[in-house]
Amino acid sequence: MSKIILTGDRPTGRLHVGHYVGSLKRRVKLQNSGEFDSIYIMIADAQALTDNADNPEKVRQNIVEVALDYLGCGLDPAKSTLFIQSMVPQLTELSFYYMNLVTVSRLQRNPTVKAEIQMRNFEASIPVGFFTYPISQAADITAFKATTVPVGEDQMPMLEQTREIVHKFNSVYGETLVEPQILLPDNKACLRLPGTDGKAKMSKSLGNCIYLADTEEEVRKKIMSMFTDPNHIRVEDPGCVEGNPVFIYLDAFSRPEHFAEFLPEYAGLDELKEHYRRGGLGDVKVKKFLNNVMQSELAPIRERRKKWEKDIPAVYEILREGSQKAEAVAAQTLADVRSAMKINYFDDGALIKEQIEKYK
Ligand code: ATP
Ligand code: MG
Repeated sequence: MSKIILTGDRPTGRLHVGHYVGSLKRRVKLQNSGEFDSIYIMIADAQALTDNADNPEKVRQNIVEVALDYLGCGLDPAKSTLFIQSMVPQLTELSFYYMNLVTVSRLQRNPTVKAEIQMRNFEASIPVGFFTYPISQAADITAFKATTVPVGEDQMPMLEQTREIVHKFNSVYGETLVEPQILLPDNKACLRLPGTDGKAKMSKSLGNCIYLADTEEEVRKKIMSMFTDPNHIRVEDPGCVEGNPVFIYLDAFSRPEHFAEFLPEYAGLDELKEHYRRGGLGDVKVKKFLNNVMQSELAPIRERRKKWEKDIPAVYEILREGSQKAEAVAAQTLADVRSAMKINYFDDGALIKEQIEKYK
């Protein structure tokens, strides 16, 4: 069986370092591993509209921002198909058929959607499109017969929902769809990177992000004013590293060679944490180290992004070509789905014969 990747992001803002450690970095690694037959990376504009219906301009503006972030991170259009969701209308049709295989109560149990409804104050008036976006995600994944979906932890319920739809579809209509596997980051700190404010998730919608496109100075300012352990007031106070975003970011970003380069008086992260716990290590020193670590990771991304910013028409051309390629693949899956569901009336010679017989 082919090994196929599908994943993507909502164009609701520029991408941040949570996206990077949660999914983007892995994608680039998988892309360059040569182990996959196809890789599809989707800019989910239709999904972004489910909670931004009144602000299509925001979605429109951010398509190119997300594409620039992709290219900056090293996604290579020669190896990965970058495309725009709404340019592949087959996805909408698939969603419509899958809706018949899912109950309202099943959707209501989705913990990520529940949390997002609360965060957006949608409790009293949830747009139907937003409520059903897990179904549209199942369409996105299955349209490309994806076997592997590299995403952050918040996507686990979506993958579960997709697998249920695949089972249901295949058992009702016959073996047609491919069951995908989720691929979570190996590093626990990257499953759900917290915001610079210490909130549970760095999220475009919460304004607590370090963006891939931030300048060196912006990144430095954000790091130096990050939330830490509120009880670690004086340098000599013992500090807590658990739940402390500065240390979580170090878990996510630092490597042994960073210590040799930027903080040689410590053998590694364990020793630094130990000192912080004991007391006598100030936040400023740790933040300065984190800044060095993150700048060294982000600088090449920023530079590559800048180069693409000078050739915006080429970026749109990549998306146009990618969308055409994606549409051809999704059209084939849709044809398989229609045939499995027996709604391929005009291609079904047996049906016409059957009706002729009936009226003989
Ligand atoms: P929005 O607030 O509009 O939903 P978002 O910041 O949650 O935006 P998405 O586009 O919904 O971003 O998510 C894109 C991908 O990035 C998903 O795979 C998701 O799991 C991952 N991701 C998003 N935020 C984080 C985070 N803080 N840590 C790890 N992974 C994340
Ligand atoms: Mg999200």
